[in-house]
Amino acid sequence: MVLGCLLARRGLNVTVLEKHADFLRDFRGDTIHPSTITVLRDLGLAERLLDLPLSRVPTMDAVVDGSRFTAVDFSTLPGPDDFLVFAPQWDFLDFLASEGARLPGFDLRMRTGAHDLLLKDHSIVGVRASDDQGEVEIRATLTVASDGRTSLLRQKAELVPVETGVPTDVLWFRLPKPQDPPPTTLGYVSAKGLVLTLERGDYYQAGTVIPKGRFAQLRAQGLDAFRARLASAAPPLTGVVGALEDWDQIKLLSVQLNHLPQWHRPGFIAIGDAVHAMSPVFGVGVNYAIQDAVALSNAIADDLAGGTVPEAVLARVQARRERPVRAMQRIQRFAHRGLGRVTRARGDRFMPRPIAAGAGVLQPLIQRTLAHLIGYGFLPERPDLCDAVGERPA
Ligand SMILES: Cc1cc2nc3c(=O)[nH]c(=O)nc-3n(C[C@H](O)[C@H](O)[C@H](O)COP(=O)(O)OP(=O)(O)OC[C@H]3O[C@@H](n4cnc5c(N)ncnc54)[C@H](O)[C@@H]3O)c2cc1C
Repeated sequence: MVLGCLLARRGLNVTVLEKHADFLRDFRGDTIHPSTITVLRDLGLAERLLDLPLSRVPTMDAVVDGSRFTAVDFSTLPGPDDFLVFAPQWDFLDFLASEGARLPGFDLRMRTGAHDLLLKDHSIVGVRASDDQGEVEIRATLTVASDGRTSLLRQKAELVPVETGVPTDVLWFRLPKPQDPPPTTLGYVSAKGLVLTLERGDYYQAGTVIPKGRFAQLRAQGLDAFRARLASAAPPLTGVVGALEDWDQIKLLSVQLNHLPQWHRPGFIAIGDAVHAMSPVFGVGVNYAIQDAVALSNAIADDLAGGTVPEAVLARVQARRERPVRAMQRIQRFAHRGLGRVTRARGDRFMPRPIAAGAGVLQPLIQRTLAHLIGYGFLPERPDLCDAVGERPA
Protein backbone atom coordinates (compact mmCIF):
# COMPACT_ATOMS: atom_id res chain seq x y z
CA MET A 1 0.00 0.00 0.00
CA VAL A 2 2.85 2.38 0.86
CA LEU A 3 4.70 1.53 -2.33
CA GLY A 4 1.49 2.00 -4.32
CA CYS A 5 0.93 5.45 -2.79
CA LEU A 6 4.55 6.49 -3.34
CA LEU A 7 4.63 5.46 -6.99
CA ALA A 8 1.18 6.91 -7.73
CA ARG A 9 2.39 10.21 -6.24
CA ARG A 10 5.15 10.15 -8.84
CA GLY A 11 2.46 10.03 -11.52
CA LEU A 12 2.80 6.31 -12.25
CA ASN A 13 -0.02 3.81 -12.67
CA VAL A 14 -0.04 1.20 -9.88
CA THR A 15 -2.40 -1.71 -9.32
CA VAL A 16 -2.51 -2.98 -5.73
CA LEU A 17 -4.15 -6.37 -5.19
CA GLU A 18 -5.61 -7.50 -1.86
CA LYS A 19 -7.18 -10.92 -1.74
CA HIS A 20 -9.46 -10.11 1.21
CA ALA A 21 -12.57 -7.93 1.09
CA ASP A 22 -11.21 -5.70 3.86
CA PHE A 23 -8.07 -5.15 5.94
CA LEU A 24 -9.52 -6.65 9.09
CA ARG A 25 -6.58 -8.81 10.05
CA ASP A 26 -6.40 -8.87 13.81
CA PHE A 27 -3.27 -9.57 15.83
CA ARG A 28 -0.81 -8.24 13.28
CA GLY A 29 1.30 -5.17 13.74
CA ASP A 30 -0.38 -2.53 15.85
CA THR A 31 2.60 -0.20 15.88
CA ILE A 32 3.38 2.79 13.67
CA HIS A 33 6.95 3.78 14.35
CA PRO A 34 8.58 7.22 14.39
CA SER A 35 10.38 6.41 11.11
CA THR A 36 7.04 5.66 9.43
CA ILE A 37 5.50 8.84 10.84
CA THR A 38 8.51 10.72 9.41
CA VAL A 39 7.88 9.17 5.98
CA LEU A 40 4.22 10.21 6.21
CA ARG A 41 5.30 13.69 7.30
CA ASP A 42 7.56 13.93 4.23
CA LEU A 43 4.48 13.15 2.15
CA GLY A 44 2.31 15.66 4.00
CA LEU A 45 0.12 12.91 5.48
CA ALA A 46 1.28 12.74 9.10
CA GLU A 47 -1.14 15.27 10.53
CA ARG A 48 -4.12 13.63 8.83
CA LEU A 49 -3.09 10.27 10.28
CA LEU A 50 -2.51 11.71 13.73
CA ASP A 51 -5.97 13.32 13.67
CA LEU A 52 -7.47 9.80 13.79
CA PRO A 53 -8.35 8.38 17.21
CA LEU A 54 -5.00 6.63 17.86
CA SER A 55 -2.90 6.10 20.99
CA ARG A 56 0.34 8.11 21.01
CA VAL A 57 2.90 6.58 23.32
CA PRO A 58 6.01 8.54 24.42
CA THR A 59 7.38 5.73 26.62
CA MET A 60 6.92 2.00 27.00
CA ASP A 61 6.95 0.35 30.40
CA ALA A 62 7.61 -3.27 31.19
CA VAL A 63 7.04 -5.03 34.48
CA VAL A 64 9.93 -7.43 35.09
CA ASP A 65 9.74 -9.79 38.07
CA GLY A 66 7.11 -7.49 39.58
CA SER A 67 9.08 -4.24 39.21
CA ARG A 68 7.92 -1.62 36.72
CA PHE A 69 10.50 0.17 34.65
CA THR A 70 10.45 2.34 31.56
CA ALA A 71 12.28 0.34 28.92
CA VAL A 72 11.87 2.72 25.97
CA ASP A 73 11.71 6.50 25.96
CA PHE A 74 10.82 7.83 22.51
CA SER A 75 10.91 11.40 23.79
CA THR A 76 14.73 11.09 23.66
CA LEU A 77 14.44 11.02 19.83
CA PRO A 78 14.74 14.25 17.88
CA GLY A 79 11.28 15.76 17.34
CA PRO A 80 8.73 16.12 16.00
CA ASP A 81 8.28 12.33 15.63
CA ASP A 82 9.30 11.40 19.15
CA PHE A 83 6.49 8.98 19.96
CA LEU A 84 5.08 5.66 18.85
CA VAL A 85 1.52 5.24 17.64
CA PHE A 86 -0.61 2.22 18.47
CA ALA A 87 -3.27 1.71 15.85
CA PRO A 88 -5.03 -1.43 14.66
CA GLN A 89 -3.44 -2.28 11.33
CA TRP A 90 -6.77 -2.05 9.47
CA ASP A 91 -7.16 1.61 10.48
CA PHE A 92 -3.72 2.38 9.07
CA LEU A 93 -4.38 0.46 5.85
CA ASP A 94 -7.81 2.10 5.44
CA PHE A 95 -6.08 5.46 5.86
CA LEU A 96 -3.53 4.61 3.16
CA ALA A 97 -6.32 3.33 0.88
CA SER A 98 -8.20 6.61 1.22
CA GLU A 99 -5.02 8.62 0.56
CA GLY A 100 -4.22 6.41 -2.44
CA ALA A 101 -7.75 6.91 -3.81
CA ARG A 102 -6.98 10.64 -4.21
CA LEU A 103 -4.20 9.82 -6.69
CA PRO A 104 -5.23 9.21 -10.31
CA GLY A 105 -2.78 6.36 -10.93
CA PHE A 106 -3.64 4.35 -7.79
CA ASP A 107 -5.91 1.36 -8.44
CA LEU A 108 -6.63 -0.76 -5.36
CA ARG A 109 -8.50 -3.96 -6.16
CA MET A 110 -9.94 -5.70 -3.13
CA ARG A 111 -11.02 -9.37 -3.21
CA THR A 112 -8.44 -9.94 -5.93
CA GLY A 113 -5.97 -12.70 -5.19
CA ALA A 114 -2.89 -13.17 -7.36
CA HIS A 115 -2.23 -16.85 -7.91
CA ASP A 116 0.34 -17.03 -10.69
CA LEU A 117 2.98 -15.04 -12.51
CA LEU A 118 2.88 -14.17 -16.19
CA LEU A 119 6.11 -15.00 -17.98
CA LYS A 120 7.57 -13.81 -21.26
CA ASP A 121 11.08 -14.73 -22.40
CA HIS A 122 12.27 -15.55 -18.83
CA SER A 123 10.93 -12.23 -17.51
CA ILE A 124 7.96 -11.80 -15.20
CA VAL A 125 5.47 -9.48 -16.87
CA GLY A 126 2.55 -9.49 -14.45
CA VAL A 127 0.19 -11.74 -12.52
CA ARG A 128 -2.81 -13.92 -13.05
CA ALA A 129 -5.44 -13.25 -10.38
CA SER A 130 -9.03 -14.13 -9.48
CA ASP A 131 -11.71 -11.66 -8.46
CA ASP A 132 -15.51 -11.78 -8.15
CA GLN A 133 -15.86 -11.82 -11.94
CA GLY A 134 -13.39 -14.68 -12.51
CA GLU A 135 -9.85 -14.73 -13.86
CA VAL A 136 -7.91 -11.57 -14.71
CA GLU A 137 -4.45 -11.01 -16.16
CA ILE A 138 -2.67 -7.90 -15.00
CA ARG A 139 0.41 -6.93 -16.98
CA ALA A 140 3.06 -4.77 -15.35
CA THR A 141 6.51 -3.34 -16.00
CA LEU A 142 7.42 -4.54 -12.51
CA THR A 143 5.61 -7.05 -10.30
CA VAL A 144 6.18 -6.63 -6.56
CA ALA A 145 5.38 -9.50 -4.19
CA SER A 146 4.29 -7.94 -0.90
CA ASP A 147 2.03 -10.84 -0.03
CA GLY A 148 3.44 -11.55 3.40
CA ARG A 149 5.30 -14.40 5.01
CA THR A 150 3.39 -17.16 3.23
CA SER A 151 4.01 -15.44 -0.12
CA LEU A 152 2.66 -17.44 -3.03
CA LEU A 153 4.29 -15.14 -5.55
CA ARG A 154 7.82 -15.70 -4.24
CA GLN A 155 7.14 -19.43 -4.50
CA LYS A 156 5.96 -18.98 -8.09
CA ALA A 157 9.17 -17.02 -8.74
CA GLU A 158 11.09 -20.03 -7.33
CA LEU A 159 12.64 -17.96 -4.55
CA VAL A 160 13.07 -20.10 -1.44
CA PRO A 161 13.50 -18.59 2.05
CA VAL A 162 16.15 -19.73 4.51
CA GLU A 163 14.48 -20.40 7.87
CA THR A 164 15.92 -19.39 11.22
CA GLY A 165 14.40 -21.63 13.87
CA VAL A 166 12.43 -19.70 16.50
CA PRO A 167 11.62 -21.59 19.72
CA THR A 168 8.44 -19.67 20.56
CA ASP A 169 4.87 -19.12 19.37
CA VAL A 170 2.47 -16.39 20.44
CA LEU A 171 -1.15 -16.68 21.56
CA TRP A 172 -3.20 -13.52 20.93
CA PHE A 173 -6.51 -12.54 22.49
CA ARG A 174 -8.44 -9.48 23.64
CA LEU A 175 -8.92 -8.55 27.26
CA PRO A 176 -11.02 -5.73 28.68
CA LYS A 177 -9.04 -3.22 30.73
CA PRO A 178 -9.35 -3.56 34.50
CA GLN A 179 -11.59 -0.97 36.17
CA ASP A 180 -8.58 0.84 37.53
CA PRO A 181 -6.05 0.17 34.75
CA PRO A 182 -2.30 0.28 35.41
CA PRO A 183 -0.18 2.75 33.39
CA THR A 184 0.41 1.77 29.75
CA THR A 185 2.48 -1.40 29.90
CA LEU A 186 4.05 -3.21 26.98
CA GLY A 187 4.30 -6.44 28.90
CA TYR A 188 4.78 -8.39 32.09
CA VAL A 189 7.69 -10.76 32.24
CA SER A 190 8.66 -13.10 35.04
CA ALA A 191 9.48 -16.76 35.58
CA LYS A 192 5.69 -17.31 35.45
CA GLY A 193 5.42 -16.18 31.85
CA LEU A 194 5.33 -13.25 29.46
CA VAL A 195 2.10 -11.36 28.81
CA LEU A 196 1.89 -8.47 26.33
CA THR A 197 -0.76 -5.78 26.70
CA LEU A 198 -1.01 -3.47 23.69
CA GLU A 199 -3.27 -0.43 24.10
CA ARG A 200 -6.47 -0.41 22.06
CA GLY A 201 -8.82 2.11 23.64
CA ASP A 202 -10.93 0.33 26.25
CA TYR A 203 -9.36 -3.09 25.74
CA TYR A 204 -5.95 -4.70 25.41
CA GLN A 205 -4.67 -6.58 22.44
CA ALA A 206 -2.98 -9.13 24.64
CA GLY A 207 -0.59 -11.94 23.93
CA THR A 208 1.46 -14.57 25.66
CA VAL A 209 4.55 -16.46 24.58
CA ILE A 210 4.59 -20.26 24.64
CA PRO A 211 7.17 -22.85 23.57
CA LYS A 212 6.75 -23.68 19.88
CA GLY A 213 4.27 -26.46 19.25
CA ARG A 214 2.90 -26.50 22.82
CA PHE A 215 -0.58 -25.04 22.11
CA ALA A 216 -2.38 -28.40 21.95
CA GLN A 217 -0.90 -29.36 25.32
CA LEU A 218 -2.05 -26.05 26.85
CA ARG A 219 -5.56 -26.57 25.53
CA ALA A 220 -5.63 -30.04 27.01
CA GLN A 221 -4.89 -28.50 30.44
CA GLY A 222 -8.06 -26.42 30.15
CA LEU A 223 -9.05 -22.75 30.08
CA ASP A 224 -9.03 -22.43 33.88
CA ALA A 225 -5.34 -23.33 33.95
CA PHE A 226 -4.62 -20.90 31.09
CA ARG A 227 -6.44 -18.03 32.83
CA ALA A 228 -4.62 -18.79 36.09
CA ARG A 229 -1.30 -18.76 34.25
CA LEU A 230 -2.05 -15.34 32.74
CA ALA A 231 -3.14 -13.91 36.09
CA SER A 232 -0.06 -15.18 37.85
CA ALA A 233 2.26 -13.75 35.14
CA ALA A 234 0.38 -10.42 35.01
CA PRO A 235 -1.41 -9.89 38.37
CA PRO A 236 -3.18 -6.62 37.35
CA LEU A 237 -5.14 -8.70 34.81
CA THR A 238 -6.54 -11.11 37.44
CA GLY A 239 -9.98 -9.47 37.38
CA VAL A 240 -10.33 -9.56 33.59
CA VAL A 241 -8.94 -12.92 32.45
CA GLY A 242 -12.44 -14.35 33.03
CA ALA A 243 -13.40 -12.62 29.74
CA LEU A 244 -11.70 -15.57 28.02
CA GLU A 245 -14.54 -18.08 27.95
CA ASP A 246 -13.71 -20.11 24.89
CA TRP A 247 -10.54 -21.23 23.09
CA ASP A 248 -12.01 -19.62 19.94
CA GLN A 249 -11.10 -16.27 21.48
CA ILE A 250 -7.43 -17.30 21.53
CA LYS A 251 -5.50 -17.35 18.26
CA LEU A 252 -2.22 -19.15 17.74
CA LEU A 253 0.29 -17.17 15.67
CA SER A 254 3.28 -19.17 14.68
CA VAL A 255 6.39 -16.97 14.90
CA GLN A 256 8.74 -17.12 11.92
CA LEU A 257 12.08 -15.58 11.11
CA ASN A 258 13.46 -16.13 7.63
CA HIS A 259 15.04 -14.42 4.64
CA LEU A 260 15.38 -14.86 0.92
CA PRO A 261 18.98 -15.06 -0.34
CA GLN A 262 17.75 -13.45 -3.56
CA TRP A 263 14.88 -10.97 -3.67
CA HIS A 264 14.44 -10.48 -7.39
CA ARG A 265 14.02 -11.89 -10.90
CA PRO A 266 13.80 -9.98 -14.16
CA GLY A 267 10.62 -7.89 -13.83
CA PHE A 268 9.98 -9.01 -10.25
CA ILE A 269 10.97 -8.23 -6.68
CA ALA A 270 9.67 -9.23 -3.26
CA ILE A 271 9.58 -6.91 -0.24
CA GLY A 272 8.41 -6.98 3.37
CA ASP A 273 7.61 -10.28 5.05
CA ALA A 274 7.58 -11.98 1.65
CA VAL A 275 11.34 -11.56 1.67
CA HIS A 276 12.10 -11.45 5.40
CA ALA A 277 9.44 -12.65 7.84
CA MET A 278 9.99 -10.68 11.03
CA SER A 279 9.23 -11.92 14.49
CA PRO A 280 6.96 -9.77 16.68
CA VAL A 281 9.95 -8.92 18.93
CA PHE A 282 10.16 -5.09 19.17
CA GLY A 283 7.14 -4.88 16.82
CA VAL A 284 9.22 -3.67 13.89
CA GLY A 285 7.97 -5.84 11.00
CA VAL A 286 5.56 -3.29 9.57
CA ASN A 287 8.26 -0.67 9.83
CA TYR A 288 10.81 -2.73 7.89
CA ALA A 289 8.25 -3.59 5.21
CA ILE A 290 7.54 0.14 4.78
CA GLN A 291 11.26 0.99 4.64
CA ASP A 292 11.65 -1.60 1.83
CA ALA A 293 8.79 0.10 -0.01
CA VAL A 294 10.38 3.55 0.33
CA ALA A 295 13.80 2.31 -0.84
CA LEU A 296 12.24 0.47 -3.78
CA SER A 297 10.16 3.46 -4.83
CA ASN A 298 13.21 5.75 -4.70
CA ALA A 299 15.24 3.30 -6.79
CA ILE A 300 12.75 2.45 -9.52
CA ALA A 301 10.45 5.44 -10.08
CA ASP A 302 12.47 6.95 -12.93
CA ASP A 303 13.08 3.62 -14.66
CA LEU A 304 9.41 2.69 -14.31
CA ALA A 305 8.38 5.93 -15.95
CA GLY A 306 10.74 4.94 -18.80
CA GLY A 307 8.95 1.58 -19.14
CA THR A 308 11.60 -0.86 -17.94
CA VAL A 309 13.39 -1.60 -14.66
CA PRO A 310 16.76 -3.35 -15.16
CA GLU A 311 17.36 -6.27 -12.79
CA ALA A 312 20.60 -4.57 -11.68
CA VAL A 313 18.47 -1.81 -10.11
CA LEU A 314 16.48 -4.45 -8.19
CA ALA A 315 19.75 -6.04 -7.06
CA ARG A 316 20.83 -2.66 -5.67
CA VAL A 317 17.61 -2.44 -3.67
CA GLN A 318 18.33 -5.85 -2.17
CA ALA A 319 21.93 -4.84 -1.40
CA ARG A 320 20.73 -1.68 0.34
CA ARG A 321 17.93 -3.22 2.41
CA GLU A 322 19.41 -6.63 3.18
CA ARG A 323 21.93 -5.40 5.75
CA PRO A 324 19.56 -3.45 8.02
CA VAL A 325 16.95 -6.19 7.83
CA ARG A 326 19.38 -8.99 8.66
CA ALA A 327 20.89 -6.94 11.49
CA MET A 328 17.45 -6.54 13.06
CA GLN A 329 16.67 -10.22 12.54
CA ARG A 330 19.88 -11.13 14.37
CA ILE A 331 18.78 -8.98 17.30
CA GLN A 332 15.35 -10.62 17.22
CA ARG A 333 16.96 -14.06 17.26
CA PHE A 334 19.04 -13.05 20.25
CA ALA A 335 15.91 -11.75 22.01
CA HIS A 336 14.16 -15.05 21.31
CA ARG A 337 16.84 -16.82 23.29
CA GLY A 338 15.86 -14.58 26.23
CA LEU A 339 12.17 -15.30 25.66
CA GLY A 340 13.04 -19.00 25.56
CA ARG A 341 14.26 -18.54 29.14
CA VAL A 342 10.75 -17.39 30.16
CA THR A 343 9.09 -20.40 28.62
CA ARG A 344 11.59 -22.77 30.25
CA ALA A 345 12.13 -20.88 33.53
CA ARG A 346 12.33 -23.03 36.62
CA GLY A 347 13.52 -20.55 39.26
CA ASP A 348 11.66 -17.68 40.94
CA ARG A 349 12.94 -14.90 38.72
CA PHE A 350 13.24 -14.21 35.01
CA MET A 351 16.15 -11.83 35.48
CA PRO A 352 18.85 -12.72 38.03
CA ARG A 353 19.18 -9.96 40.67
CA PRO A 354 22.66 -8.71 39.59
CA ILE A 355 21.47 -8.28 35.98
CA ALA A 356 18.32 -6.49 37.20
CA ALA A 357 20.46 -4.16 39.31
CA GLY A 358 22.73 -3.44 36.32
CA ALA A 359 19.70 -2.76 34.11
CA GLY A 360 18.43 -0.30 36.73
CA VAL A 361 21.71 1.64 36.67
CA LEU A 362 21.84 1.62 32.87
CA GLN A 363 18.18 2.49 32.46
CA PRO A 364 18.63 5.91 30.77
CA LEU A 365 21.04 4.38 28.25
CA ILE A 366 18.71 1.42 27.63
CA GLN A 367 15.75 3.78 27.14
CA ARG A 368 17.60 5.86 24.57
CA THR A 369 19.15 2.90 22.72
CA LEU A 370 15.86 1.03 22.45
CA ALA A 371 14.08 4.21 21.33
CA HIS A 372 16.49 4.49 18.38
CA LEU A 373 16.50 0.77 17.64
CA ILE A 374 12.73 0.42 17.70
CA GLY A 375 11.80 3.90 16.50
CA TYR A 376 14.15 4.22 13.54
CA GLY A 377 16.07 0.96 13.28
CA PHE A 378 19.01 0.57 10.95
CA LEU A 379 19.09 2.73 7.81
CA PRO A 380 15.70 4.44 7.98
CA GLU A 381 14.59 5.47 4.49
CA ARG A 382 13.16 8.80 3.35
CA PRO A 383 11.14 9.13 0.14
CA ASP A 384 12.51 11.13 -2.78
CA LEU A 385 9.95 13.82 -3.24
CA CYS A 386 8.67 15.05 -6.55
CA ASP A 387 5.66 17.07 -7.59
CA ALA A 388 4.38 14.74 -10.26
CA VAL A 389 1.07 14.02 -8.48
CA GLY A 390 -1.75 14.09 -10.96
CA GLU A 391 0.31 13.27 -14.04
CA ARG A 392 -0.10 9.95 -15.76
CA PRO A 393 2.52 8.60 -18.13
CA ALA A 394 1.17 6.91 -21.22
C1 LIG B 1 2.11 -12.39 16.22
C2 LIG B 1 2.74 -11.28 15.45
C3 LIG B 1 2.67 -9.98 15.95
C4 LIG B 1 3.29 -8.93 15.29
N1 LIG B 1 3.23 -7.69 15.82
C5 LIG B 1 3.84 -6.65 15.17
C6 LIG B 1 3.75 -5.30 15.67
O1 LIG B 1 3.16 -5.01 16.72
N2 LIG B 1 4.37 -4.32 14.94
C7 LIG B 1 5.02 -4.58 13.78
O2 LIG B 1 5.56 -3.64 13.16
N3 LIG B 1 5.10 -5.84 13.28
C8 LIG B 1 4.52 -6.88 13.94
N4 LIG B 1 4.59 -8.14 13.42
C9 LIG B 1 5.24 -8.36 12.12
C10 LIG B 1 4.33 -7.79 11.02
O3 LIG B 1 3.01 -8.31 11.13
C11 LIG B 1 4.87 -8.10 9.63
O4 LIG B 1 6.28 -7.95 9.59
C12 LIG B 1 4.23 -7.14 8.60
O5 LIG B 1 2.82 -7.26 8.64
C13 LIG B 1 4.75 -7.42 7.20
O6 LIG B 1 4.06 -6.59 6.30
P1 LIG B 1 3.85 -7.06 4.80
O7 LIG B 1 3.07 -5.96 4.14
O8 LIG B 1 5.12 -7.51 4.21
O9 LIG B 1 2.92 -8.37 4.87
P2 LIG B 1 1.48 -8.57 5.49
O10 LIG B 1 1.18 -7.58 6.54
O11 LIG B 1 1.36 -10.01 5.81
O12 LIG B 1 0.51 -8.22 4.26
C14 LIG B 1 0.37 -9.07 3.15
C15 LIG B 1 -0.95 -8.72 2.48
O13 LIG B 1 -1.04 -9.39 1.24
C16 LIG B 1 -2.33 -10.00 1.13
N5 LIG B 1 -2.14 -11.16 0.27
C17 LIG B 1 -1.50 -12.31 0.60
N6 LIG B 1 -1.47 -13.13 -0.46
C18 LIG B 1 -2.10 -12.47 -1.48
C19 LIG B 1 -2.37 -12.79 -2.83
N7 LIG B 1 -1.98 -13.96 -3.36
N8 LIG B 1 -3.03 -11.89 -3.59
C20 LIG B 1 -3.42 -10.68 -3.07
N9 LIG B 1 -3.20 -10.33 -1.79
C21 LIG B 1 -2.53 -11.22 -1.01
C22 LIG B 1 -2.70 -10.34 2.57
O14 LIG B 1 -4.11 -10.50 2.70
C23 LIG B 1 -2.16 -9.13 3.31
O15 LIG B 1 -3.08 -8.08 3.35
C24 LIG B 1 3.98 -9.20 14.08
C25 LIG B 1 4.04 -10.49 13.56
C26 LIG B 1 3.44 -11.53 14.26
C27 LIG B 1 3.53 -12.93 13.70
